[in-house]
Amino acid sequence: MDDAVNGFFRALECRLRALQLAGVRRVPRLWPEAPAPVAAGASPSAGVAASAVDSRPQFGSMAEFARQMRERLGVAGGGAGASKAAPGRSSRSRGAAETARPAAEPEAGQGLPPRRPADAGVDAQLASLAATVARCTRCAELAASRTQTVFADGPSNAELMFVGEAPGQDEDARGVPFVGRAGQLLTKIITAGMGMRREDVYICNILKCRPPGNRNPAPDEAAHCREYLDKQIELVAPKVICCLGGVASRFLLDDATPVGQMRGQWRQYRGIPVRVTYHPAYLLRNYTVDARQKVWDDVREVAAKLRELRG
Ligand code: URA
Repeated sequence: MDDAVNGFFRALECRLRALQLAGVRRVPRLWPEAPAPVAAGASPSAGVAASAVDSRPQFGSMAEFARQMRERLGVAGGGAGASKAAPGRSSRSRGAAETARPAAEPEAGQGLPPRRPADAGVDAQLASLAATVARCTRCAELAASRTQTVFADGPSNAELMFVGEAPGQDEDARGVPFVGRAGQLLTKIITAGMGMRREDVYICNILKCRPPGNRNPAPDEAAHCREYLDKQIELVAPKVICCLGGVASRFLLDDATPVGQMRGQWRQYRGIPVRVTYHPAYLLRNYTVDARQKVWDDVREVAAKLRELRG
């Protein structure tokens, strides 16, 4: 396959990934489908006729779209073949090829709902902890300036926990983490990037109060809140934790290594595998193909780890 065609596929895959991160799940079908199977007893032309008169737009998954493109142009499909077909590809563009692999791309909302049954006792303990947090005045400045505390979002039996930095203005107003622009992007990352539903993951922050002006959390503030975060981790007992950004990784892992160096490796917190990726707000400020690719690769690793731990 010549360079022009390979270049075309790389550009196409980047575009598909950008659309996925933007929340698009279906694209118009490129080619007409094979005629629908004909029901027993129907005229042999019934399926063809039905599809011929159906003028509704046809939509298929992006993975199917990419698969069809590959097939039509005779480019090797997913898996090892994909990288063999383009030996010059970096590991980053191998990630792009994986986007087009149908088996590796669950539809949004279908992948990995929690398996452990919800436990009313755990729910009660979390509710009690949230009530304690709501009364907390350990950080005098934050307690005075907050509208309300922001405890968490998600089920107590979630297998995946995201840990962010601290509530922003929207979160402070609504009392729910990650509901502003960064939160909307996080939701897209969860659904389009991981094939999961936001309502199946547990989302919380290092700090439960908004720092005035969205400044970075101070170390003493993070230390005051640590007991709450640790209790959340203990009660939810996620199989995997994903740190969003350097503030989360610095305070959770007690490691100030920049995200760019920490991502791509598995770390542990109290025996739980931890992956670090860029904060969605960073991604919004640096909305480049490269940055999005990295986040995409990170969250796919997280989804793969969850599957692996499920056996
Ligand atoms: N950024 C965070 O780190 N947490 C939120 O809840 C919102 C934005």
